[in-house]
Amino acid sequence: MHVLPTLESQRNALEKCTFCPKLCRSACPVSNAETRETLTPWGKMSLAYFTGHGDVPLDASHTDPAWACTGCKACTHACDHQNDVATTLYEARAAIMAKGQNPIGAARVVKNFDKHAERTRQAVAELGVHGSVRRDAATNLLTGCSYARATPREAKDAIFATSQLVGEPVSLAENCCGLPLLMAGAQEAFKAQAEKLAAELHGRKRLIVLDPGCAVALKVHYPKFGIKLPAEVEVFVELAASHVGRLKPLDNLPDERVRYHDPCQLGRGLGIYEAPRLVLSRLLGRPPDEFDYRREKAACSGAGGLLPSTMPDVAKRIAKTRVAEHEEGGGGKIVTACASSLLSFRATAVEPVEDIATWVAKGLGA
Ligand code: SF4
Ligand code: SF4
Repeated sequence: MHVLPTLESQRNALEKCTFCPKLCRSACPVSNAETRETLTPWGKMSLAYFTGHGDVPLDASHTDPAWACTGCKACTHACDHQNDVATTLYEARAAIMAKGQNPIGAARVVKNFDKHAERTRQAVAELGVHGSVRRDAATNLLTGCSYARATPREAKDAIFATSQLVGEPVSLAENCCGLPLLMAGAQEAFKAQAEKLAAELHGRKRLIVLDPGCAVALKVHYPKFGIKLPAEVEVFVELAASHVGRLKPLDNLPDERVRYHDPCQLGRGLGIYEAPRLVLSRLLGRPPDEFDYRREKAACSGAGGLLPSTMPDVAKRIAKTRVAEHEEGGGGKIVTACASSLLSFRATAVEPVEDIATWVAKGLGA
């Protein structure tokens, strides 16, 4: 790997894909939406491998495919080796970016990150929910920047619900977890941002995380960068499920389907499939409707891995495909548990799309 030497640690994963008969090819939402061989998991991994080896030039046509991944891990689930393509491609992004090569969308994310972080701080500061927030509270809620900035109503529902569930007001983390930087390929900047959030959380006794992307960052990526947090990370929907008996079944529900969409980071990322179904079953008085592809086989919304920044049209097509599957299954409401999925579905859907935080808040009397 003389061209991209930091990829030496990923050699095993890269070689598995490069010499594989592409058994996972039908699993990838990106190559399903944009049918190019280079966008299959095999294509993306092979190009990273060949670029690292110096077999192909270090130019955009050979390196940009490393960013054509939502991080959904559908290929990993379909792979006999459980090969971790998403994580390997994040490493490839970092190695390629270190050589000064990256797609415009990823460069823009890095360039604008300080503004993004400041806007996130401002948005969180405006999320006050009467009686539910106290700056020095021992329990901290990290809503995530997408909830705070783009879906404040759902963020407020989560604040109210968390405060009710833990029995006291919560403090709110104002720093972004840094995940956009990691997905762009800026690992040093990601580590610096992670250290800022860890410093902000110092002394807290409980850490609740709403967005599964942030939860994966804190639980999976932070330890790899040596970032220590003051308490175990609890995921909001699991907290709600652990108090399911306190949720009041909802009255006057409209007679329509309510279909749960498994967010990739919550499902394949953290292995959480039962908690949201338990919560929705309690609130609905029956199990939620399901997509044909669900749980470990759930299909991606197209919103992860910075795809909306690097390949916005492909990301939209992926979301539209999921909404079309929902409509073919009888339509109704989609409920999900991830701000990015919520936003991408809302951008395409005529059907209503809601977040599980809203349902939990209603079940607690909001
Ligand atoms: S992820 Fe697994 S199945 Fe897919 S190309 Fe790589 S080794 Fe083959
Ligand atoms: S993680 Fe998802 S988007 Fe990325 S290569 Fe695998 S299937 Fe495709």
